Amino acid sequence: MGKVTGFLEIDRQDRKYKSAADRVRHYNEFVIPLSEETTKDQAARCMNCGIPYCHNGCPVNNQIPDWNDLVYHGEWEQASRNLHSTNNFPEFTGRVCPAPCEASCTLNLQDQPVTIKTIECAIVDKAWENGWLEPQPAASKTGKKVAVVGAGPAGMAAAQQLARAGHDVHVYEKHAKAGGLLRYGIPDFKMEKKIIDRRVAQMEAEGVVFHYNSNVGVDVPAKKLVDEYDAVLLAGGAEQPRDLPAPGRELDGVHFAMEFLPQQNRRVGKEPLTTNEPILASGKHVVVIGGGDTGSDCIGTSVRQGALSVTQLEIMPQPPVKENKLLTWPDWPLKLRTSSSHEEGAEREFAVLTSAFEGENGVVKKLKCVRVDGKMQAVPGSEFDLKADLVLLAMGFVSPVHEGMLKELGVAFDNRGNVLADTLGYASSLDKVFACGDMRRGQSLVVWAIREGRQAAHSIDKTLMGRTDLPR
Ligand SMILES: Cc1cc2nc3c(=O)[nH]c(=O)nc-3n(C[C@H](O)[C@H](O)[C@H](O)COP(=O)(O)OP(=O)(O)OC[C@H]3O[C@@H](n4cnc5c(N)ncnc54)[C@H](O)[C@@H]3O)c2cc1C
Ligand code: SF4
Repeated sequence: MGKVTGFLEIDRQDRKYKSAADRVRHYNEFVIPLSEETTKDQAARCMNCGIPYCHNGCPVNNQIPDWNDLVYHGEWEQASRNLHSTNNFPEFTGRVCPAPCEASCTLNLQDQPVTIKTIECAIVDKAWENGWLEPQPAASKTGKKVAVVGAGPAGMAAAQQLARAGHDVHVYEKHAKAGGLLRYGIPDFKMEKKIIDRRVAQMEAEGVVFHYNSNVGVDVPAKKLVDEYDAVLLAGGAEQPRDLPAPGRELDGVHFAMEFLPQQNRRVGKEPLTTNEPILASGKHVVVIGGGDTGSDCIGTSVRQGALSVTQLEIMPQPPVKENKLLTWPDWPLKLRTSSSHEEGAEREFAVLTSAFEGENGVVKKLKCVRVDGKMQAVPGSEFDLKADLVLLAMGFVSPVHEGMLKELGVAFDNRGNVLADTLGYASSLDKVFACGDMRRGQSLVVWAIREGRQAAHSIDKTLMGRTDLPR
């Protein structure tokens, strides 16, 4: 383990942010890494508990106490090897994972969990800096061909695993670049896109072929892939947004978050917008409907674009500031979470329902709102209006898009409309066709997408070869 008495001697210290006044003037990342010595001290706080709950908290089962110990002893390259044995892209999770591992850490019983995510990020950033992450092409080829639909974290993780196992892997992606929601949803200030580009270059050197601007089911017939490949993995995400069918929804200025966020990411990435209708928050009163990561990203982006005000509405009541550990630990607790974007200047309103959008000349001007009680019933007399020139709907995603590829294939769905496949074989209802990530499990997290991509690759390799050395 790290230092036997480390957790008694050393206080938790985590990465800080550049000041809000400074960071809102650009779209770059603003997290300030800890120094090498401080990171080692933080790793020394790991108690190497008899039961490392953090392993279970982490969806890719990162071997957290092992790499904490290696970091404490300055064995960074070995720590990187260990970390990459369970996670293809720790630089993604080290930046955007909500870190359920830290909620599970035994030291979280006293609100002082090990800074696991920060240490993970430090390990992989150092590995890139030192050139330790060379491509790992397979020593021999299997002669099998696998198509992966979708270059999000699930598709990328699966493709990398399958290529390293010796298969010819072709990734079909409808957008111009890889990354999925990491590229076009999550803003650059949370994760700069060069982080994705260097992994794509590594994967290409390992033999993965990316086919961009290829919308399967539209530009490329899905059945053609099934005919031409030995296996097809559907990793197209859950892109059907949840709507708010209130009166006035059709007004200009009411948009889904995923109409707004990708535009800014494209501007930063110097990609052309895919529409003639730029959506900008500059000089506007913005209302974001829905909490969660997507809502936060809309706030941070609106503030950077120069919004006059940003208000976030959440229909659920405000959760407690602090959880009751004895009821929640080691699980992920429901509590009030304040993101860096909230700190940049947004009003937050809880237990509020939007009953209508109102506008002038076809353009939204205000929202009609009402407060709701614990049973989601309108509280009489609590109606109020909210000024709004731009409304962003960030209420999550209901399922994958069925039109196009999924309908053409005729694949079976579960009762939530996701592609039906279990988490042992990841096999869909169709022969040779597998599914993983948000397309299979519904809207989730990057770390879950990586887990499912890895596990689906294991299953596909085993199906094609009768055996597999790929880890689950
Ligand atoms: C705005 C926003 C912010 C988020 N922030 C976080 C966060 O901070 N932390 C976190 O852990 N998670 C976050 N998430 C969730 C996370 O991004 C997703 O859970 C994760 O990206 C899912 O990975 P995936 O590979 O399954 O799908 P996706 O990332 O959605 O990738 C699917 C890919 O498939 C492509 N595709 C779809 N259909 C086709 C087709 N027919 N042909 C070709 N290509 C196709 C899409 O273009 C896309 O590139 C956020 C989500 C959003 C929307
Ligand atoms: S991937 Fe997420 S849950 Fe796993 S160790 Fe990293 S931050 Fe924690």
